[in-house]
Amino acid sequence: MTATTIERIETRLVDLPTIRPHKLSVATMHGQTLMLVKVYCGDGVVGIGEGTTIAGMAYGPESPEAMKLAIDAYFAPAMIGQDPTRVQALMAHLGKLVKGNHFAKSALETALLDAQGKRLGVPVSELLGGRRRERLPVAWTLASGDTAKDIAEAESMLELRRHNVFKLKIGAREPRTDIRHVAEIKKAVGERAAVRVDVNMAWSETQAASAIPALADAGCELVEQPVASAAALTRLMRRFPVALMADEILQGPESAFGIAKNAGADVFAVKIEQSGGLFAAQRVAAIADAAGIELYGGTMLEGAFSTVASAHLFASFANLQWGTELFGPLLITEEILTEPLDYRDFALTVPNRPGLGIELDEARVKRFTRDGLMKVTR
Ligand SMILES: [Mg+2]
Repeated sequence: MTATTIERIETRLVDLPTIRPHKLSVATMHGQTLMLVKVYCGDGVVGIGEGTTIAGMAYGPESPEAMKLAIDAYFAPAMIGQDPTRVQALMAHLGKLVKGNHFAKSALETALLDAQGKRLGVPVSELLGGRRRERLPVAWTLASGDTAKDIAEAESMLELRRHNVFKLKIGAREPRTDIRHVAEIKKAVGERAAVRVDVNMAWSETQAASAIPALADAGCELVEQPVASAAALTRLMRRFPVALMADEILQGPESAFGIAKNAGADVFAVKIEQSGGLFAAQRVAAIADAAGIELYGGTMLEGAFSTVASAHLFASFANLQWGTELFGPLLITEEILTEPLDYRDFALTVPNRPGLGIELDEARVKRFTRDGLMKVTR
């Protein structure tokens, strides 16, 4: 018998400034917009979830505005009156009503898991099979677009003992210029830090084939999504002494199976939003494990809620060979939690209170909330 039902769902857009422009091959970001969703249940429990994209719609088909609309108009009316304690069953029901919309689904699933964890008095990691680690290594992305500034930023991160793995966003400039940029940064940090690159699909296969050996010579250990095509990435595999990672082409379990079947990547960047939620991301990881593909915990430059949801999931993975890049909250100038996340000694501590284990600072977030709070009620 159902003990409680979903009574109200609220969505809002929160526009937050970033600490510096963040330059990717697809766009330059000057701020970050979080779509926050609150699920109010009849037993008084409230769960919070987040949907966030990289640079609006420059990276993928969903935007924070589109997620809000999809939830307000389609998901929320179908959720009111439903049992929030049956998270997987409810998400399967919503999956039948709404195709695609992976990011919006991830936000809702996060809110439902947050609520269920609070209800049962356990962290979300325990609803996902139980955590295997309390702290997660966190890489930092150097993306100021300027070599000297990036080196100074890397030095300060090493000094603070916050990050010793750096991911460089390249692909917007000539490969030759990018290779020089990577080589100078690796030379500056030396053995004190690992250097990886993310090309965000900017290269053709022939560009990648000529650039990757030079990156390897420069000391780069991993190349993320150098080309857009899964077939081209497969052809590039095993040709170079660096790991190749799939990110954009990994859109949930089906695509994970396709890539794994073709031995199309050394590493998967697992993302809860891109996968379509935490359970879908868990299936992506299981496929990787079965295929001998290594794992990396990816980010959509999410704020605290999706970052912590991801942390609970990654903490439960059997393998996490390449650590994570869960630094999203550190790219934002404003603290939106009543208690900040614990980043130190090159790692993030996975919260251990019930649910996500974090609390939204309502007063603070209100200042950054776009007008037009929408409510869908019974
Ligand atoms: Mg990436």
